[in-house]
Order: sequence, then structure tokens, then C-alpha cells
Amino acid sequence: MIRYLAFLKFLVYALRFESPLAWVTRFSYILSAARSLLDLDISTKAPPLKFLIAGAGIGGLAAAVGLRQQDHEVQIFEKSGFKNEVGAALTVPPNVDGLLKRLGLNPDENGGTREEWLTRYTKKGDVVTEVDFGKLRKFFSPNEAGTIHRVDLHEGLRNLALSLGVEIHLRNAVASIDPEAGSVTLENGTTVTGDVIIGADGINSKVRKSMFDEDQEPHPFGVTTFRLLIPTSDIVKDPLARKFTEKDGLLTVWADQGGRNFITYPCR
Ligand SMILES: Cc1cc2nc3c(=O)[nH]c(=O)nc-3n(C[C@H](O)[C@H](O)[C@H](O)COP(=O)(O)OP(=O)(O)OC[C@H]3O[C@@H](n4cnc5c(N)ncnc54)[C@H](O)[C@@H]3O)c2cc1C
Repeated sequence: MIRYLAFLKFLVYALRFESPLAWVTRFSYILSAARSLLDLDISTKAPPLKFLIAGAGIGGLAAAVGLRQQDHEVQIFEKSGFKNEVGAALTVPPNVDGLLKRLGLNPDENGGTREEWLTRYTKKGDVVTEVDFGKLRKFFSPNEAGTIHRVDLHEGLRNLALSLGVEIHLRNAVASIDPEAGSVTLENGTTVTGDVIIGADGINSKVRKSMFDEDQEPHPFGVTTFRLLIPTSDIVKDPLARKFTEKDGLLTVWADQGGRNFITYPCR
């Protein structure tokens, strides 16, 4: 750090000289600056840190994978036993597709489905717009837009984390954390200390409650979402619905003017 500052100081001096004679001085300053940069031992790595993560959901596992890839020590404390993982499709926009691939998880190889078309309808079924994602691909290539079943994404991230040596402690719910002491207290009374604590324990986060004094309860804001999965083999039997399976990767949005939407998209 000190050498970086010295380098910056030299550079500032070097750029301030105006007269032709000053070019000689400037040149020598630039040389000194370059030498001070070359003297840097850039191979020196900071020692690994001990990360404690509350929650092995999508956020906790993705953080764990990225941190292990940087050689940090990572332990995750997860409330559930992962017995009955549930969910439906999560949207994977191109930026997320790129991030997942950087972490080593290609959605295409983990049950992901591409989004190829978008059709918007009025609530009566009149077409408003049709978008061919193929024409947009040049804007987000080499990444893709798609969906992935939450269970597939979760399983892929979990396998990746375990293969990298992340310790996942199932049925170990976090009760509270102490940011000053750098400690996590579990519901079974055990206290674990580390260098950094990450709260990824979802909507009813205990970490968030420990950090902030004010009431942090989630509250409804008047929007409800219902979600269900229908096998394609059932849809093709229905003469009215069949057309929605004819194009691969078709996303449809049916919207009324009152903010109510009906959305369909492929999953698995
Ligand atoms: C079972 C499930 C199914 C879902 N299905 C869908 C879906 O189909 N479509 C969609 O769009 N979104 C779905 N979501 C939401 C979506 O996955 C998350 O909103 C999003 O991934 C944010 O991730 P997150 O890691 O912050 O939280 P989450 O994915 O919610 O993960 C939080 C994790 O923390 C754990 N946890 C909770 N409390 C504690 C505690 N005290 N100590 C330790 N661990 C704790 C939970 O068991 C969970 O594993 C689902 C979430 C869950 C948990």
C-alpha cells in the first residue's frame, strides 16, 4: 500500500513539471516510479479469512463458492436438513447466467431452459408484442437468458460448494450474531467465531435482527403471487392451451391495466 502511494506521489510530481529542462527530471521521476512499482512483491497474497455464513440458500451457497475459489475458509450454518427441497423456475437473466458460469455452474448443464420468445397479451388474449430473443442475443452474448428450477440451481451450487471444501452444517439454525465479537450463536447454544459473517438466512433473517435495533419483520405490501407447475404432457392435450407449447422457450405475459399479471414460462 505504501509503495502504491509512493508511486502515485512520483507520478503526480512527474506530471506537474512544465519547462523542457524539467522533462529530464520528469523522466527520472517516472523511472523511479516505475522502479518502485516493480519492487512490489505482487505475488504476496493476503492470508485467507474465516467466513461464517448463515443460510445455505441460493445466496449463501453462491457466496460460499466464490469465497472458496479465493481460498477463504467457509462454513455455512443451515436451519433445514434439505430433505424436501421445493420451488419452481427462477429467471436467469444474461448477467446472472454469466455470473453462474464464472462460479463454474452452467445452467444449460443443470436442467436450465433457454428463453427464446416473449409474447405479451391483453387479458382477453389479443397479442400486444412478440419479441424474438434470438435477435437480442448479440447484446448479451456469450451469456443466455433462461430459467432454472430452484431445486436444480440449489443442488448444483451445493455440489459445487461441497466439491470445493465448503463445510455445510445442516440442522444448525443461527439464533443470533455478535458483530463486535465476530461470533455466530446457534440455536443449540454453540458459539462459533470467525473474521467475517454473512447473513443469507432469507426473509426472516436472524442476522438482520441482530444487526439492527428497529423492527425488521417482513410486512405485506399488497401484492400476492401464486405459482404452479403443469406438465407439458397435460398442456398439449388441451386444444386451447396447446399453442403455448409449440415454440421452444416461449415466455408469455398476460396483463390487465390494474397491475394483475399472468405469466407462463418453461421450466426443466
Ligand atoms: C424452499 C424455497 C423455495 C423457493 N422457490 C422459489 C421459486 O420457485 N421461485 C422464485 O422466484 N423464488 C423462490 N424462492 C425464493 C428464492 O429462492 C429466494 O428469494 C432467492 O433465491 C433469495 O435467496 P436467499 O439466499 O437470500 O434466500 P433463500 O433462498 O430463501 O435461502 C435462505 C436459506 O436460509 C435458511 N435459513 C433460514 N433461517 C435460518 C437460520 N435462522 N439459520 C440458518 N439458516 C436459516 C433457509 O432454510 C434457506 O436455506 C424459494 C425460496 C425457498 C427457501
